[in-house]
Amino acid sequence: MSTNEQLFERAQRVIPGGVNSPVRAFRAVGGTPRFISRAEGPYIFDAEGQRYIDYIGSWGPMILGHGHPAVLEAVQKAARDGFSFGAPTEREIELAEEILKLVPSMDQVRLVSSGTEAAMSALRLARGATGRNKIIKFEGCYHGHADALLVKAGSGLATFGSPTSAGVPAEVVQHTLVLAYNDLEELEAAFKLHHADLACVIIEPIAGNMNFVRASVPFMKRLRELCTQHGALLVFDEVMTGFRVALGGAQSLYARAIPGFEPDVSVFGKVIGGGMPLAAFGAKRAVMAQLAPLGPVYQAGTLSGNPVATACGLSTLKEIQRPGFFEALTASTQAVVQGLLAAARDNGVKMVGDSEGGMFGFFFEDTLPQNYATVMKTDKERFNRFFHGMLDHGVYLAPALYEAGFVSAAHSAQDIADTVSAARNSLR
Ligand code: PMP
Repeated sequence: MSTNEQLFERAQRVIPGGVNSPVRAFRAVGGTPRFISRAEGPYIFDAEGQRYIDYIGSWGPMILGHGHPAVLEAVQKAARDGFSFGAPTEREIELAEEILKLVPSMDQVRLVSSGTEAAMSALRLARGATGRNKIIKFEGCYHGHADALLVKAGSGLATFGSPTSAGVPAEVVQHTLVLAYNDLEELEAAFKLHHADLACVIIEPIAGNMNFVRASVPFMKRLRELCTQHGALLVFDEVMTGFRVALGGAQSLYARAIPGFEPDVSVFGKVIGGGMPLAAFGAKRAVMAQLAPLGPVYQAGTLSGNPVATACGLSTLKEIQRPGFFEALTASTQAVVQGLLAAARDNGVKMVGDSEGGMFGFFFEDTLPQNYATVMKTDKERFNRFFHGMLDHGVYLAPALYEAGFVSAAHSAQDIADTVSAARNSLR
């Protein structure tokens, strides 16, 4: 039995499924998860000493690669000064100032510890601020595992969702309406039926939980108009896209295409903490004034704004603002996607791909899917075989076809060339 297999067996005795987050268990692709012992730059190393070029980057946070010297130093210094105080610190102000500088749609931000917590709090804030209960989410978008968001579509626009997880009472999702992504007709119809009751619409602007699917510009434009017209808040879940697809997040890209575009509430995670537990949500001052201790919407956290996590996030955000950072990251990511597509083409395999900044996706399909239903119709068997082929060649892709990929600033031209040659061999 290999070391990874031994560890997996041992893990399964004491941890449900052997993992602390389900997708790590390789259930979608089969096989034994790799137990990671350390990481360096663009590489992760498993318990058997095998090296992998890492395209997960802890599912997004590691935009600088692993162990960036400036970040490491900031974290070590912060740790020496104390792990947690449960009292305010100057560094929290600095991080908030830095975030607000990069995301001008927000006047204020509150720091929390996970994307789940941030999205859940944003939802409560939207409901508290509007005095309304109903929310719209889109099929295939993931916003963490808060009860109200673990929901699938009901049988029509008049029926609200049903839970996708045991343990979530139907009553808790009775206010959540689930619509198809990029479907303008459904959106119009839903607003027509429910407009006066809608607290918010929450969306992944580029959905990384369906691999990589962009909300079209006309769809986003109309969504913004409908929200404004009917007093529902538009909540951008940028946990994955924030500081990743562009310095100003996905909202900066839509603002380029739609003059004056802004979401009302934004949710961040992943890159904002640079690999430490840190996330945030923010909005204009009037909306944020609804939050405790100023207003009636309760929200709190023992470890919120943790001093070591804020040091990690702050130094990460400083590094990604260096001149040319996003240009270089974008070029590397495009090179990965173009390389995969060329390898597929040369082997007579159909594949499409897309990327923005340091985030990418690819599908064994002729055209880019526009919603969850079409993503799930792509060739899963082929993806799974490709995933294992790449893993055997030392390239670690996300272990499920509905997950995005991430490139870091540490990935060199040689790493990308090695990735493409692994793809050629796997596809052959
Ligand atoms: N929103 C989005 C868009 C996400 O991708 C994720 C996590 N993958 C979350 C929210 C939840 O974040 P966390 O896992 O930190 O709770």
